[in-house]
Amino acid sequence: MLNLTYTYRLKLTQQQSQTYEAWLETSRRVWNFALAERKDWYQSRSCRIDACSLKSEYIIPSHAPRPTFASQCKALTQVRKTNPDLNAAHSQMLQQVLRRLEKAFIGMWESGKGFPRFKKQGRMRSLLFPQLGVNPIQGSKVKLPGVGWVKMQLSRPIPDGFVAKQAQVVKKASGWYVMLTLQADVDAPSLAPHGQPIGIDIGLKVFLATSSGEQIARPRFFALLQQKLKLLQQRASHKRLGSNNWRKAQHKVSRLHEHIHNTRKDFHFKLAHKLCDQVGMIFVEDLNFKTWAKGMFGKHTLDAGFGEFFSILEWVCWKRGVYFAKVNPNGTSQTCPNCNHHTGKKDLSERIHHCGECGFQTDRDVAAAMVVMQRGLRAVGHTVKMLGEGLSNSSPLTQESPVL
Ligand SMILES: [Zn+2]
Repeated sequence: MLNLTYTYRLKLTQQQSQTYEAWLETSRRVWNFALAERKDWYQSRSCRIDACSLKSEYIIPSHAPRPTFASQCKALTQVRKTNPDLNAAHSQMLQQVLRRLEKAFIGMWESGKGFPRFKKQGRMRSLLFPQLGVNPIQGSKVKLPGVGWVKMQLSRPIPDGFVAKQAQVVKKASGWYVMLTLQADVDAPSLAPHGQPIGIDIGLKVFLATSSGEQIARPRFFALLQQKLKLLQQRASHKRLGSNNWRKAQHKVSRLHEHIHNTRKDFHFKLAHKLCDQVGMIFVEDLNFKTWAKGMFGKHTLDAGFGEFFSILEWVCWKRGVYFAKVNPNGTSQTCPNCNHHTGKKDLSERIHHCGECGFQTDRDVAAAMVVMQRGLRAVGHTVKMLGEGLSNSSPLTQESPVL
């Protein structure tokens, strides 16, 4: 089963957008209400015995069960019967708000994210419809709950064999969008490993290096846009909260966020296609970006969007018939691709791999990419020749290639 998400711009009529605006507001209230319920429950439990005050007394009986997704859904169904606003909104969509809240709590328990926050007016931006009717897409129109047929700007065709299963309607600074989750009704044909292999190492100094010695520089546009963003945010912070100028400044900030996201995605797609042009197999490291982002690589990882890049690369590979696989990432930068010798940890500032055992020397990231490729080839059952006798010391240091 293969899932894809395609985003299209929606052309909502005034009435349609009024309906969705109202639903966003209802969703926001449901979120805040359900969050308050959970928060109250926690606070009633966290009251220290010596600090028990009037303010934080046990208002909720100690045996009251913790509010859960299921209990809150049940309560929602009850309230919907008497509350016209809630009743007017799509019930599955509202349940998704509760599910999102549940996820936010799980994120807090499991990955140490912060306590979920209340949403201010206008901060609820998306409506998730987990199910769509039969044949929800006809031509360039999509049938959405509550508003019926809506025109889409069909910037790219829905691929053959895919059916729209789920829709998330998002209100962005530049207008309304729908993110359609498309599912192939047939299983994706699994590709056999074939053709030229390539290994990829992602890094901080350059965006990525390949085992064939190519290095793709970190896109410069990103630093520039980041500066611009900082400037706009500063300007916005000087405006009086809630004033017209403040609103305008906020709008500019979110427009730029959107632009950064799009530019990055575009860069990722172009790069993925470029890599696929050259080879039949692509191997990458099986990295856990979530733990990575917490560590020293923090901001850089998120900025570069490596996780997003890998999913795009996987999808482009599938589409282009290129074999894609992930390999064990442990110690790729501590192994010599020429003789398999363990070279020990390199300092981040050490840009060159130099093997004390065989004398092989090349760029550090390229060496890591070579190791990734060798691991991938072994995993698919190829015998791996070490880079080779006679090659030692002869590999020239590669130049950074221009930004795509
Ligand atoms: Zn070596």
